[in-house]
Amino acid sequence: MQDRKLSFLERWDSLTARLTPLLTDEGKRERVQYLGVSLLLGFISLLIVVLNLVTHRGWHTYTTFGYAVLSFLNAFLFWRFGKRHTRPLSLLFILEMIGMFIFFIIVGKPEGFPTLWICLLPACGMLLFGMRRGVILCIVMFFILAFFFWVPLGQSLLQYDYSDTFMIRFPMFYLASFLLSILLEYIRFVTQRELDRLRDKYRFFASHDYLTSILNRAGLKERYQQIRRTGRQTVMMIDIDHFKDVNDHYGHEIGDLVLTETAQTISENVNGVVCRWGGEEFVAWIHVPVDGNALGETVRKAVEEHVVRIPNSTRSLSVTISVGVASGPPDSVIDELVKRADARMFQAKDSGRNRVVGEPEGGDQP
Ligand code: GH3
Ligand code: MG
Ligand code: MG
Repeated sequence: MQDRKLSFLERWDSLTARLTPLLTDEGKRERVQYLGVSLLLGFISLLIVVLNLVTHRGWHTYTTFGYAVLSFLNAFLFWRFGKRHTRPLSLLFILEMIGMFIFFIIVGKPEGFPTLWICLLPACGMLLFGMRRGVILCIVMFFILAFFFWVPLGQSLLQYDYSDTFMIRFPMFYLASFLLSILLEYIRFVTQRELDRLRDKYRFFASHDYLTSILNRAGLKERYQQIRRTGRQTVMMIDIDHFKDVNDHYGHEIGDLVLTETAQTISENVNGVVCRWGGEEFVAWIHVPVDGNALGETVRKAVEEHVVRIPNSTRSLSVTISVGVASGPPDSVIDELVKRADARMFQAKDSGRNRVVGEPEGGDQP
């Protein structure tokens, strides 16, 4: 028993997993929803056809069968052309639905029952057309109902003898279903919007640093896969000097501010990809040919000259950086370049900090 239950849940989970990318992608979801609703209406109509056949309902069988065929045709059209022609197909769908409902109201057989199908409209309308267009569609349907049930001219067109109670109360019942659908669609819309916002935020921070908003290590690797490398590659490893002292003297908040402004200064001076490698270390990758040593010097000077003003105070501070530069041919592996740049950055530290150690004159690397 336990096994069967588990396997059903597993199958349900796998179905959900396959549907999730379709239902969370705005463009695809629209098509899937149209397809789903059309197929649902088609199958329900077929079921009613069978019921009509069993209960010998005569011509209702043909009209219901006609609607089943129409629904399957809609499903086919959405499947085949829905991607490009969503608008005209959805308009066709609305007109068919409203046409069918007017027919149901007027004919009213058997026993006025077909009119009840109209209560499906708010849910279908919101699902297929969203809040704004769904509400317009439902209001139009309300006026159609009011015309046939409450206006003498509309009443004179009815072929079925509805009771007064039905004609007064049914539009109200429809209205209740309409308002409930608005509430559900509103909750769905707000939830979806919040999920989209969170998804975008977490997608962003998967590749960006939370503090400085520049790329993080994963983001650099991602860019490295995406950008075509044609010329000589350059990598700079940049480390803020005595940064621990900044935290110790001014506090972590000011330390964070220094990190953010240093990241900004580096980014402004490097025409390439800059990332926070970790802590107070940054890596810049320049994927076009450049004089790496001169660029390193430019960045070093810019950071040295940049003044960080301490908020709500007249005090300010400046930091310096030690830079290691490595370059290689277009097919260089970035990890190798980073390793060499890192070793040179440590040489810069050892030889007194606030300096650049680059490729030796003439270049010792391929
Ligand atoms: P060196 O010149 O040798 O690089 O010395 P340093 O003090 O810069 O290097 P050390 O590795 O001793 O200290 C780095 C400090 O960076 C220690 C750590 O607390 C600080 N740090 C790392 N990440 C952050 C951060 O996100 N915010 C702040 N405020 N400090 C950070
Ligand atoms: Mg460090
Ligand atoms: Mg440091």
